[in-house]
Amino acid sequence: MSVTANLQAIQQKIQAACEKTGRGPSEIKIIAVTKYVSVKRAQEAVEAGVAHLGENRDEGLLEKWSILQDKPTWHFIGTLQTRKVKNIIDKVDYIHSLDRLSLAAEINKRTKKPINCFVQVNTSGEESKHGLNQDEVIDFVKSLSAYPNIIVAGLMTMAPNTEDEAILRSCFQNLRKLKNSITDLNLDYAPCKELSMGMSNDFEIAVEEGATMVRIGTALVGNESLGGEQR
Ligand SMILES: *Cc1c(COP(=O)(O)O)cnc(C)c1O
Repeated sequence: MSVTANLQAIQQKIQAACEKTGRGPSEIKIIAVTKYVSVKRAQEAVEAGVAHLGENRDEGLLEKWSILQDKPTWHFIGTLQTRKVKNIIDKVDYIHSLDRLSLAAEINKRTKKPINCFVQVNTSGEESKHGLNQDEVIDFVKSLSAYPNIIVAGLMTMAPNTEDEAILRSCFQNLRKLKNSITDLNLDYAPCKELSMGMSNDFEIAVEEGATMVRIGTALVGNESLGGEQR
C-alpha cells in the first residue's frame, strides 16, 4: 500500500473518532514512526504530506536525518540512553521518552536551546513498559524546574498490546487526568498541553480519549523488517 492510501485511511478514522467526541481533526498530529522502514519509505511519507517523523534509535534517526534533514519535524520516541543524547539532540524537535532526572540533566546540558519533552508514563503497570509510575509523575515534573532547557510539552504513554478496549481506554484516561493535574500547577516550564498516545492498533481510542499526537508505524508506512516481535 502506498503511504498516501494508508494516510487517507488513518485520517478518515481520526475524523470519525473526532466526530464521536466533538473534537477537530486539526487538534491531532500524526507522527509517522519509520523505525521499521528504509530511508526511501520515510521519504515517501514526507512526500505524502506527513509533517512529523518518529524514530526510536539514534542510528535510524541519523540515517534518515542525513537525507531528509529538517524537512519533517523530528520526534525521538524510544528509550534514550544518556550517553546517546549528544548524538541526536540537535536533530530532534521533541523527545517523547523523558523518564529520569539523569536524562533530564544530560538533555539540559547538551541542548543549545530549550527543547520540548514528553514525560513518559507507565499507565498500564506492566513491568516491561518504560516510564514513570503514575504516582511519581507530579513530583518528577516539579523536579524538572532545575533544568531550564527542558520544556514539559506533554505526557506520553504506550498502552499494553491488547485488544481489550476497556484496558486501553483506562490507560489513556489516566494519562489525560495526569496531564490535567500538571496543567493545573501552572508551571511556566510545563505547559503540558500535549498527549502523545495511540499507535497502529489503538490510535482511534487514543483520539477519543484526547490524544494530540499519535505515533503510527505499521499502519502508515508498514514494516519492512523480517519477522520478530516488534513491540
Ligand atoms: C514502534 C513504536 C510506535 C509505533 O508502533 P506501531 O504499532 O507500528 O504503530 C509508537 N510508539 C513507540 C514508542 C514505538 O516504539
